[in-house]
Amino acid sequence: MTRYFEVQQRDGAARIGKFLLKEDIRTPYILDTRSLGNPESPIIDGGSLWKYSGFEEAQEHLREIRQKAGEDALIILPHQDLTPEAPRNVTIKLAEKAEGMEDSGATGAIYIAGQQVKEHDLYVMEGAGCFENNARTFLSVLLEMKKDIAPDTAIYAPNIAIPENLAMLIYLGIDVFDNTKAIIAGHNDIYLTTAGQFYLDSLAELPCRCSACSSTDLTSLRGMDKKSRAVILEKHNINAMEAEAALVRERIRAGTLREYIEGQCRVHTWLTALMRLTDSEYDFVESQNAIARNNTLVATCGESQNRAEIVRFAKRIQERYTPPESDILLLLPCSARKPYSTSNSHWKFINALGKSRKFVHEVIITSPLGIVPRELELTYPAAHYDTTVTGYWDAEEREWVASCLEDYLTKHKYTSIVAHVEDAYRVICEMVAEKLGIDIIYTSLGNVSSPESLKNLSKTVSELCTGRKRSHEQTQKDLMKAVADYQFGKGSGDILVPQGSTVKGPFPKHQIFVGKKQLITLIPQYGTLAITIEGAKALLGKGRYTVKIDDFVPRGSLLAPGVVDADPLIRPNDEVIICGEKAIAVGRANMNGDEMKRSIRGVAVDLRHVKKIE
Ligand SMILES: [Zn+2]
Repeated sequence: MTRYFEVQQRDGAARIGKFLLKEDIRTPYILDTRSLGNPESPIIDGGSLWKYSGFEEAQEHLREIRQKAGEDALIILPHQDLTPEAPRNVTIKLAEKAEGMEDSGATGAIYIAGQQVKEHDLYVMEGAGCFENNARTFLSVLLEMKKDIAPDTAIYAPNIAIPENLAMLIYLGIDVFDNTKAIIAGHNDIYLTTAGQFYLDSLAELPCRCSACSSTDLTSLRGMDKKSRAVILEKHNINAMEAEAALVRERIRAGTLREYIEGQCRVHTWLTALMRLTDSEYDFVESQNAIARNNTLVATCGESQNRAEIVRFAKRIQERYTPPESDILLLLPCSARKPYSTSNSHWKFINALGKSRKFVHEVIITSPLGIVPRELELTYPAAHYDTTVTGYWDAEEREWVASCLEDYLTKHKYTSIVAHVEDAYRVICEMVAEKLGIDIIYTSLGNVSSPESLKNLSKTVSELCTGRKRSHEQTQKDLMKAVADYQFGKGSGDILVPQGSTVKGPFPKHQIFVGKKQLITLIPQYGTLAITIEGAKALLGKGRYTVKIDDFVPRGSLLAPGVVDADPLIRPNDEVIICGEKAIAVGRANMNGDEMKRSIRGVAVDLRHVKKIE
């Protein structure tokens, strides 16, 4: 079956895509509801089955529409419109019969939970409009749908979009909307904006400069007859939606849609509920979130700490990280400047430690990330976040950071723990120390950067320096190992930074060599590793982050149809190993592993090195 929809860009679950129809349609797309019945339109509704005496007649009607519309129009197949209250088995039975209708072009269908899904180009989230204001039901229906249908299928949520909710609906991974609500609002004298809805009577001025609003003013608008007024209001309402869709597309391209919806969702309680409920669906959100990117993660509200990138970072430290061999742990506060070690305060700490530094393992305490071992300070999002600083940490923030520190100190043992911290950082250390019954030595005397505090840090640590120490090269290797484990799973560091390997390149552009063969390079921009073919060969035995292909030699980029199998752990932007009978290659994933396996269209991996197997 040919496919007519392709996802081109992603930001979490949100995406920019393209329908390859009689005219190219870019998604997120707002279709004109009134055009759905027109055979000239690129997207046509086949209508309700109730109109026909039987399926044969419906099939005949479909054939007629297709003939008029051509192969390159998308037809939503005639459907059985039953109320959501109808018994599920009846709905499914009728839907399956309707699915029996044959058509050779681009097609869409109503999604019915429990029904065997086919490979349509678009699925309709039936009754989406009924779930408005009901975040729980809306999300559960959408997630069920997402699980069932192929990831490169478009989702159409009819009769729900208005300017204020559009960004959130796109954030959740919906691609197609319509202007039904905007039109109805226009005919009811309701003026829609991204900041909410207003009755025309309640406005003192028109808060928009779109072509419809600039063509008139409030007094003239009120003086018009109802029909003319509706024309202008409808035009404005649709313009407001189009403008919001364009803005959201920009946000997707920039990779900052989350920051936008953290603000936009406050317009309506059900949208805020949707964001919170979606955050609690960690697996759904995390699986679609890029492993690293180079834009700033801006944390401005309580919900920011529930972001998948932040929870994933904490989880990976818990599950994948092994600290270097050291007897002394030094806990430090974070700094506004990232990576921390380039900040003024950290320079002072490092200078104060002097020669004692090689005896010490440094871990930074921070909100909302929790804890950041020094080796991972470059790794996304540790060097990429910016957070609101007031000096006040709320209870949830403290609890979250404390839980990260507690987990760390439960797993990893040190002879001595020193904390050079003040204020909330100290409260957190004390909370954890008391809970675990461990001793922490505090060295700061009122201000972490004061000469007295730094002197005390220096003196305290130098008196403790009797245990294991690390050479400069070992410290560099520990960094590379920690990033390898973080990225490819526990144990990968030992494979990619083996005994006898050497480190080349200044911080942070380290490379690991075994003899003359290079295995990995640290990419400072993301704080992640790029692997060479040699590195890929070494890692292949672990079987992780691998994409299996058929017996061909890929070039430039690997397309999804060429993927035979892919590790479900792969996330967008992950470094992956491609292996087939004829070639081994390395590159950067463009979609997650599941999507690679289940998609028919789109670039799966951007390749960097390809080696033919002779
Ligand atoms: Zn306007």
